[in-house]
Amino acid sequence: MSRIDDLPPLRDVIARHGLAAKKALGQNFLLDLNVTARIARAAEIAPGDLVYEVGPGPGGLTRALLAAGADVVAVERDERCLEALAEIAAAYAPGRLTVIPGDALAVDETAVLGARPAKVVANLPYNVGTALLIRWLSADPWPPWWRSLTLMFQKEVADRLIAGPREDAYSRLSIMAQWRCRVRHHFDLSPKAFVPPPKVTSTVVGLIPLPAPRHECRLSALETVTANAFGQRRKMLRQSLKGLAVPAERLLEAAGVVPTARAEELDIAAFAALARALAEPPFRDA
Ligand code: SAM
Repeated sequence: MSRIDDLPPLRDVIARHGLAAKKALGQNFLLDLNVTARIARAAEIAPGDLVYEVGPGPGGLTRALLAAGADVVAVERDERCLEALAEIAAAYAPGRLTVIPGDALAVDETAVLGARPAKVVANLPYNVGTALLIRWLSADPWPPWWRSLTLMFQKEVADRLIAGPREDAYSRLSIMAQWRCRVRHHFDLSPKAFVPPPKVTSTVVGLIPLPAPRHECRLSALETVTANAFGQRRKMLRQSLKGLAVPAERLLEAAGVVPTARAEELDIAAFAALARALAEPPFRDA
């Protein structure tokens, strides 16, 4: 594919608007529109979809999403990018691209998107990517306002999202993601795909929300249990859960979990059983 629209090449856009990448804003731009189109395909964008994009920058991914037929609402913190984004908006029908200047961490997504469910697609700034993901995974009510997340992360973060028990990358993030989403590895991208190239490989992952969590339990209790258990991941749970306000051995017994097991060995069903036990009498009131 050589062109996806009649807009100028991204290198020209960056030169004309003086958009030299700023490290403090996590700026590693994708300039190859074939790569951005591949991300739009991974997100299965269909004409008329509403997409929420964080950090459009000079607009490479935004252009691929628009070319695939999506209506895009994009939040960008770097004011230098706003003119370039306004040029993209002007090339499409009114309402196809809405740019919200500001910090995505401060945006109330349901207020800006309205009642229409959205697909989130983003080449996330590394400095706020995990915080945004945890917020989207913690959405209340569930199923959430988003229909899918198609996100670029450092490979190391993507590995944590996908890992299962006994794998090195298995962590709190694996549990929080897989407890109520189907998580999928789409593809890796070498540092060379970005300007400037980051130090590490990047990975595009997809998360689709399940209608309900795989195993019933309260999110807050699951967070408490996994934080303590993975705080000392290689210690036996009767030791690593000592930070909880309840007797660790009795809690493990109530949940049917062997006290000598370690966090890295437990599946999500076992963590959910611990979270349920923690949220019920006699431990709830401890
Ligand atoms: N989407 C573009 C691309 O793929 O080439 C740029 C991706 S770059 C990795 C991350 C973008 O997020 C930058 O444009 C940066 O200015 C923006 N950004 C950084 N922190 C942000 C924040 N807190 N809220 C919104 N945008 C932010």
